[in-house]
Amino acid sequence: MKYWHGIWILAEQWQGKVKGVSFELLGRARNLADKCGEPLSAVLLGYQTGEASQELIYHGADQVYVVDHPSLTQFDPDAYANCLEHLIREKRPAVFIAGATSTGRTLMPILAARLKTGLTADCTDLDIEEGTKLLLQTRPAIGGNVMATIRTPKHRPQMATVRPRSHPPSLRNPARKGVIIEVKLPDEAFRTRFEILGFERIGDEKARLENVDVVVCAGRGLGNPNALFLIKELAELLGGAVGGTRPVVEQGWLPYLCQIGLSGKTVSPRLYIACGVSGAIQHLAGMRSSKFVIAINKDPRAQIFKVADLGIVGDVNEIIPRLIKRLRQIRRNS
Ligand SMILES: Cc1cc2nc3c(=O)[nH]c(=O)nc-3n(C[C@H](O)[C@H](O)[C@H](O)COP(=O)(O)OP(=O)(O)OC[C@H]3O[C@@H](n4cnc5c(N)ncnc54)[C@H](O)[C@@H]3O)c2cc1C
Repeated sequence: MKYWHGIWILAEQWQGKVKGVSFELLGRARNLADKCGEPLSAVLLGYQTGEASQELIYHGADQVYVVDHPSLTQFDPDAYANCLEHLIREKRPAVFIAGATSTGRTLMPILAARLKTGLTADCTDLDIEEGTKLLLQTRPAIGGNVMATIRTPKHRPQMATVRPRSHPPSLRNPARKGVIIEVKLPDEAFRTRFEILGFERIGDEKARLENVDVVVCAGRGLGNPNALFLIKELAELLGGAVGGTRPVVEQGWLPYLCQIGLSGKTVSPRLYIACGVSGAIQHLAGMRSSKFVIAINKDPRAQIFKVADLGIVGDVNEIIPRLIKRLRQIRRNS
């Protein structure tokens, strides 16, 4: 095991611009690397990645392995996994971390299977064990009722994905120095069984649930899908986005893209308004890091009040129209 060395993150970019999740990973991994005294590397795959590698250094990487090739212009699971496998087998990192994004969630299981190592998906926390320097990978288990900490003592690399928005991004320091290593891989690394016919972006990146400052969340307490217009209007007045609990999504009131929680998205807006949400542990897993939480629920004993900064006991169908009316007044007067 002694030849496996260093901490790696999988950096994600689009058209030469590093995605926010990569800076969050660097923030997390920098602490891990400092704790175990090993170098921190980022791996960047793409085509015409421009200044992206330099940005990764400014944000905390000691070195960046770049594979820049036309076959990597768009995400292709075959080519991406082949390139990463080549790199990992050659450089032998002790730890390899990716975001629990669609890219990370696609690539990491493929790599773990090929490299015959373990993978802890959707971690909420990572740490280094004193003495052994093993990666401690913490994630909710048993339906979210316990937090399990998993170690990988016998296989390498130790692999984990972490949820976007579960750690603040690292700060940019343009004085930071690091090494950019342009890697040339054999042609076979770029072979793929996929033919990409086109690329379609869904929705506006800035308006995505993960990126907005205000989230208004609809729970089953809303009663019926017709009442969703209240949630949408409140979100619109506050310049935010609409989220939902799992029952709301399962009943088809909102698309899965809106689901917040253990099996949905993690959000950490400045303001989170829970409307008719009970506050089940699986839901809290996706919104706990919100800065300020307002909960509206007719049951004063609802769990959601335990994590709320401001609780309103009442019927959502009465409270939300009053909030909307007041916000409209404020808007008119300003
Ligand atoms: C493995 C696993 C993964 C899961 N993943 C997720 C996940 O990702 N996200 C998620 O949300 N859940 C998830 N769940 C489900 C979770 O356990 C809860 O069942 C779910 O969060 C409850 O949703 P809810 O709060 O909308 O509904 P309920 O629990 O039914 O709560 C409705 C609330 O509304 C209140 N209410 C009712 N009428 C009104 C009214 N008129 N005005 C005001 N308040 C009212 C009630 O008092 C109640 O507190 C998961 C469960 C499991 C086992």
